[in-house]
Order: sequence, then C-alpha cells, then structure tokens
Amino acid sequence: MPEVVLLGIAQDGGRPQAGCNKQCCIGLSPAEISFPTSLGIIEMDRLHVIDVSRHLASQLQFLGNQTPSDIWLTHAHLGHVDGLGLFGREAINASGVTLHTSNQMTGLIKRVPQWEQMVEQGVFCIHEFTNKKTEQFEDFTITPIVVPHRNELSDTHAFIVRGKNKSLLYLPDHDTWRETLDLHGAATIRDWLTNLAVDIALLDGTFWSADELSSRNQEKVPHPPIKQTLELLGYKQQGDPEIIFLHLNHTNPVYDKWSDEHAQVVEMGWKIANQGMRFTI
Ligand SMILES: [Zn+2]
Ligand SMILES: [Zn+2]
Ligand SMILES: [Zn+2]
Repeated sequence: MPEVVLLGIAQDGGRPQAGCNKQCCIGLSPAEISFPTSLGIIEMDRLHVIDVSRHLASQLQFLGNQTPSDIWLTHAHLGHVDGLGLFGREAINASGVTLHTSNQMTGLIKRVPQWEQMVEQGVFCIHEFTNKKTEQFEDFTITPIVVPHRNELSDTHAFIVRGKNKSLLYLPDHDTWRETLDLHGAATIRDWLTNLAVDIALLDGTFWSADELSSRNQEKVPHPPIKQTLELLGYKQQGDPEIIFLHLNHTNPVYDKWSDEHAQVVEMGWKIANQGMRFTI
C-alpha cells in the first residue's frame, strides 16, 4: 500500500525565516525547525514528491534519501519550486525525472533558462497534467484541482492522492475560501470536501489570523486564516474528514503546542501538521 509522508509543514520561507529577528525565529531547537510544505508518496521503487524545496536533502531523510522519480508542482512560488535546481549536475545529477506540471507552469519552465536547460539535458521529462483529470499509477491516483491563488507566475493546483483505502487532499496555498468554494460550486468547506470524497485534508493554515500581517502585507499575501476556517467549519462532526493545517508561517502561534490557538484547533477536533507525519492510503 502506498505511504504518504509529510516532508515539510512551513510556509515557503521556512522556520526560522531568513531575516526574522523576532522571538518566533531566534534560538529554535532542531526539533522546531520546519521545512517548506512538501509531500512524498512512496510506492514500491518509485517516489513521487509534491513541491520541492531548497531543503530537499534534509526532507528526503524521512525517506532514506531516495531520489524522487516524479515531481508534482502546485505552483511557482518560492518554497514549492526552489529545490528544482538540486536535480541538476551540481547536486543529484538526475536523469529522466518526470516533472508533472500544468500547462502554465510548463510555459514558465521554458522561460526560465536554468530550468529549460535541465529539460534539455534530460534531467526532467515534462508531463503536463490537466485540471480534474486523474492520473493513474500502480496503487494510487493523483487528481489536480485548480484553486485561486495570486497567479502572477503560474496557476495553482491542489492535489487529491487516492489510494485503495484512503484519500488525501493537499492544499497548501489558496487565496480565500469564498473564491475557492465559488469556483467549485460548493456552499461550504464541508460540502466541498464531501464532493471531493477525501478522508484527510491537508489545508492552508499559513496564518492564525490577519493580525500577523501589517495592513500593507494583508493585501499582498492573502490566505484564509485558520481562525476563519475554524469559524466556517465549527466542531468536527461524525463523518467529517480529518483536517490538518499546514504551510504555517513562522509567525503562526499554532507552532507552539502549548498555545491557546493550538489548543483551540485540537479541541474542535482538528489537527496541526507534524513534520514527518505518515499516512497509509
Ligand atoms: Zn506556499
Ligand atoms: Zn519569525
Ligand atoms: Zn503560493
């Protein structure tokens, strides 16, 4: 049965974040260091990784440092793509890694000289996916789901990974619940997750609340705050999927297991992601 491993739980900047001299990033213990959000799917001798960050070497330690056979990209923002270069001659020196990208993301790869060169050298073979079109593998499927998110460089997708026993939604980034739910014709988060028929939902939990950002940045970096998601969801009900928040910004109080915010998430029946979490699907 395929195993899914959470290789990182942080927002693109990671934790600690470069340049942050506040309490959240000073003097962290090794256990408190968090890599950008990424998901590994192991099936026999193949390893699929969704989103590749600059910390890939450390992240692959969760998987015996196996070289990925397949990479899937949600979108073009920093922490989701800045590990691509590691597959080239200066590091892994890989060849024939299947790079699953949307049509817009493929266009971007062709316009970025470093990435285009790696395609020419045979490091990556691009395989374009289509929104809602399920790709079949030996023991699981992956379905891309388009979501609204500041699409300056590329469009953005969530992925549903479906095994024979369980299925999981990976949604690290989107702008607002209103836009995502409207796009997918769902009235509530619960309705949408029911329509997607997922058992586990890894959801964008970048910020606890909008207070974490200065008003200038609130417009620039929209993500649905966990607080709002909790208000929309209420308490966990029978039949609900397991909801796990990830893509946590370094300022997010839920990193602290003893914080009121973390306690509130758990009390309502939901979870905060842990790096290295495993799911058998
Ligand atoms: Zn991100
Ligand atoms: Zn910080
Ligand atoms: Zn993003």
